[in-house]
Amino acid sequence: MTEPPLPPIAAARHHDGVNHILLVEDSEDDAELVRAQLLSAHRHLAFRRVASAEAMRAALAEQAWDLVISDNRMPGFDALGAYQVLCQNHKDTPFVVLSGALPDQSAMAVMKLGTIDFVAKTDAQRLLPIVERELRYSNLSRAKAEIERALVHLTYHDALTELPNRQMLQKLIEHSLQGSAPPVRSALLFLDLYRFMRINETLGWAAGDELLRQVARRLTEFLPIDAVIARPGQDKFAVYLENVAGPEDGFAQARAICEALARPFAVADEELFVTCATGVCLYPDHADCAGTLLRNAESAMVEAKQAGPAKIHGYTSAPVRAQINPLRLESALWHAIEREELFVHYQPLFDVRSRTLVGAEALVRWQHPELGVVPPDRLIPLADEIGIIADIGRFVLRAACRQTRLWHDAGLPGMTVAVNASAAQFRLPNFVDDVAAVLSETGLAGEFLELEITETAVMHDAPATIRTLGALREMGVRIAIDDFGTGYSSLAYLKQFPISTLKIDRSFVLNVTTDADSRAIVSTIIVLAKALKLTVVAEGVETVEQLEFLSGLHCDRAQGYLLGKPTAAADFHRFSTRTALAPATL
Ligand code: C2E
Ligand code: MG
Ligand code: MG
Repeated sequence: MTEPPLPPIAAARHHDGVNHILLVEDSEDDAELVRAQLLSAHRHLAFRRVASAEAMRAALAEQAWDLVISDNRMPGFDALGAYQVLCQNHKDTPFVVLSGALPDQSAMAVMKLGTIDFVAKTDAQRLLPIVERELRYSNLSRAKAEIERALVHLTYHDALTELPNRQMLQKLIEHSLQGSAPPVRSALLFLDLYRFMRINETLGWAAGDELLRQVARRLTEFLPIDAVIARPGQDKFAVYLENVAGPEDGFAQARAICEALARPFAVADEELFVTCATGVCLYPDHADCAGTLLRNAESAMVEAKQAGPAKIHGYTSAPVRAQINPLRLESALWHAIEREELFVHYQPLFDVRSRTLVGAEALVRWQHPELGVVPPDRLIPLADEIGIIADIGRFVLRAACRQTRLWHDAGLPGMTVAVNASAAQFRLPNFVDDVAAVLSETGLAGEFLELEITETAVMHDAPATIRTLGALREMGVRIAIDDFGTGYSSLAYLKQFPISTLKIDRSFVLNVTTDADSRAIVSTIIVLAKALKLTVVAEGVETVEQLEFLSGLHCDRAQGYLLGKPTAAADFHRFSTRTALAPATL
């Protein structure tokens, strides 16, 4: 059987491209002979001569050697001694004995111990092939060791970002928690990049990979050196922070990270914006070991994803139905406010009994120069998702309050304005402060403002909702439950909340004259609302028959195309000068 061909010596040299040979030799002349002979055949060789056990030990400690060539007999030292020194730490380094005489007892002993080879100084031409063979062996074993190291690295690291992977993250956390000085409290943050797959699909995998690398780099630059940053999943990053002060600190750090990631990334000639759902889990508060910490942080992240955005990350379960490139739409939305592409339309609200104008609902509109009118049903979920709902919310609120002040000044003193607040916006920690600031800035009294929120938003976190609603109520602001009847709540449950108004969803109003169930639902809502002393508004009134039915049930207010479509503020005055459908027409 023929042996596989040996790789050339140059195949896997030291990282400096040179093979290093340690000569254990008392005679400088003999050492020079060996050098000259080997260098005549190979240029990339480096030598050092040592002549004692101490010097040899020092040389071995200082660097890695590819081969040791040892004289057999030196004053106070010999090949057996040299081999023993080598074996203490560097068993795998090839060892060749060069002797002035035929092998004697000690040389034989060395060979029996497993030394690679023995060459007589008188037989110099044998040295070169042996050295070549040994260097090949040495280079091969180094290449093997490097591959093994690379494999270990691959097992524990993410090849794309070079960050630790999930397995390694767990090991590092274990190490931290089980070390000699475990942290009093630490935090694991789990980040999920929103709609990363869409970036992949739209711009290609290479762009997706580049974005991930840039996110990894930004996290590394942003976070302190002792933070562990890992990539435990495709579009997921994790940050382990030792010694956080408490849950608030953990959340503050998560917010800071999300803010750092909110600055745009430049990938494939596009400006990409990254928002993330973040799960925060604390040791020992929420987990007692590394494995649980990881699992709980991840499920917190899944909840964050489902619950909606925190301060700057967003989520919506409503699919964004985009005909136009969704990334362009998103990018455009970031600039919509500053480019003054957003404005507000107002839809009149009438008192059903007197048929007089009593207020308006503010509805946001986005007119993009190329994309055209983007309906709020698309704009709002997207703004939620990319984390700028607070900015849009403030913009609409400010415009609506300012406009209402103008109406008051222009002779419509009692006009109220209803402004929609998405679930995500309502849950923002600064929401109440924002409302207060806008009211004082525009000089509108709180009692003229009604905030419309959905059942889902109020049901999400009852204690927090009650606090927020209480604070708003103190400012005189009224709260309406929008699209009532479509969510999961019950009137009995809603009693706990300081609510002033119910808006019956237009899907019920639409069928009120044709469908017995819708009729029953609408009447029940009106009756119960009256019992709870809430104002009832019917949305989406399109026909006289519908208005008549509602009037018969003593519904308080109505809104719909029959009474007036949403229009620009400048056109709104026509609603005030004529009463919508006088009672006589019914
Ligand atoms: P909404 O709050 O239930 O608003 C009523 C929607 O019904 C408006 O659609 C309005 O134009 C439409 N509408 C009014 N009368 C009729 C009618 O008689 N028939 C029919 N078929 N539709 C009628 P728009 O303006 O497209 O808004 C859709 C939703 O977007 C709103 O539903 C609201 O949830 C959200 N939205 C609008 N503006 C804002 C805003 O400034 N902030 C937030 N957070 N959400 C907003
Ligand atoms: Mg509404
Ligand atoms: Mg509605």
